Amino acid sequence: MTLESTNKVIVIGAGIFGISTTIALAKRYPGLEIHVLDRFEPPVPDGSSVDTTRCIRVDYTSEIYSELASESLAKIKKDPVISKFFHETGMSYTYDGKHDKWEDFYLTGKSFAEKANKGNPGKIVCLDSTEEVFRSIHGKEGAVPSTSDMGRETWWNKGYRNMSNGFIDAGLAMKAYYERANSYPNVTFTFCEVEKLNYYPGTKKFKSVVLQNGEEIPADLVVIAAGAWSGKLVNLQNICKMSAVEVGWLKLTPEEQESWKDMSITTNLSTGINLFPPYNGEMKVLRRSPGYKNTVSVANPDPEAHDSIEISYPRTRVTNPSDWIPKDAEIAIRENLKEILPSLYKRPFNRTRLCWLTQTPSANFLIDHHPHSQNVLLATGGSAHAWKFVPVIGDKVVDFMEGNLAPHLVELWSWKEKLGDKADNGSAPRMVGEPQEISKVIRTSGNEDLCI
Ligand SMILES: Cc1cc2nc3c(=O)[nH]c(=O)nc-3n(C[C@H](O)[C@H](O)[C@H](O)COP(=O)(O)OP(=O)(O)OC[C@H]3O[C@@H](n4cnc5c(N)ncnc54)[C@H](O)[C@@H]3O)c2cc1C
Repeated sequence: MTLESTNKVIVIGAGIFGISTTIALAKRYPGLEIHVLDRFEPPVPDGSSVDTTRCIRVDYTSEIYSELASESLAKIKKDPVISKFFHETGMSYTYDGKHDKWEDFYLTGKSFAEKANKGNPGKIVCLDSTEEVFRSIHGKEGAVPSTSDMGRETWWNKGYRNMSNGFIDAGLAMKAYYERANSYPNVTFTFCEVEKLNYYPGTKKFKSVVLQNGEEIPADLVVIAAGAWSGKLVNLQNICKMSAVEVGWLKLTPEEQESWKDMSITTNLSTGINLFPPYNGEMKVLRRSPGYKNTVSVANPDPEAHDSIEISYPRTRVTNPSDWIPKDAEIAIRENLKEILPSLYKRPFNRTRLCWLTQTPSANFLIDHHPHSQNVLLATGGSAHAWKFVPVIGDKVVDFMEGNLAPHLVELWSWKEKLGDKADNGSAPRMVGEPQEISKVIRTSGNEDLCI
């Protein structure tokens, strides 16, 4: 089907994939009716696209993503509304200094960062020792941790800082992108959960969506941009794995905010920890752990199927407000803080969250028709690194719909690319291991003495 012969498109999901696609469609096709459906009005409280911060970086292990990220970053900096939410704090990539795969990530990321900053070499700063990493956060203050202080090897030993990266307030920015999408006369938003997709009887052709309130809305084409919730709407046949990683926020004193105000986002590739600079009186810490899954049984969403399938489906602070990150997550975060931010390692978390991601085997996005249905388009598979592409990804989705997407991107983001044993391309590297079942490890409170 072509967009010229399409009267109405439904977009399910108002995260970065859905909103960006909506804006691109609305701009190019003013006569097209676009109906966006989400469970909540953006910024969606438990959406993966909504958080206090998201990194906007160009350091990738792939030239394709690095160039796309540079284009996005330039657009964010130029955008008079969105640029207000971007903070150019820089980003440091550190690791334990061992000669393993994390060193390869560090070296490749650094070489792309140098390339992206060709005219401005001062933007890349080397951190060649434990002392230089520590002082990139603390300035000249504080005793640098040693192996004997820690009772183990130190983990934050080497790295580099790319000063042209930074973070964006992902809540405020999503609100602004939503308002932009909503300002197009051909765009309508409805806030109600989609229960299921309907197909024309005896076919695999999409006909309409059914909302939780029973309303049925027909359209010519549906875009599934429902992030980690997508597996209930279409059968993703395991090519996207939904899991969540742990995030915590620590309250800071005004003196602490002042003393760490010049730190970059500091990530440790070897331990998976990301530390964000002080923002609104807090420091955010997350860990790119193997994560947590929530296995549930749902009706098989394939057209004309009558069985059920097991999927991992988001359990969030909306559905389970008293959830608190598991003990192993808290221990790992605190053990890192003990070394890199010693004054914070016993500080109680102000709040915690499990943040859901939609991981493809290769960490390449999924922008393709569902193999069953030409009028069901998938725009998902963010794989923990898609936020930064908001200014460009919607155009790529519409290019795909038009048949104009560059062939190498069609292939990269295809369903077919996700089949088989594809290695993770390292766009958002995570710790090795299998996700744990949330119901077995979740807590309702934390901050007890963990004897670290
Ligand atoms: C912890 C963490 C850290 C990350 N850090 C970064 C980073 O630093 N930089 C970066 O670039 N990327 C980062 N990412 C990745 C990025 O945030 C995600 O790839 C991106 O936000 C995914 O967007 P989405 O549109 O697919 O999903 P979402 O934002 O989750 O949007 C999906 C939407 O669909 C709606 N929905 C679902 N089901 C239904 C239904 N049945 N009916 C109606 N609506 C429905 C949901 O309410 C939701 O709003 C990170 C991700 C995580 C988890």
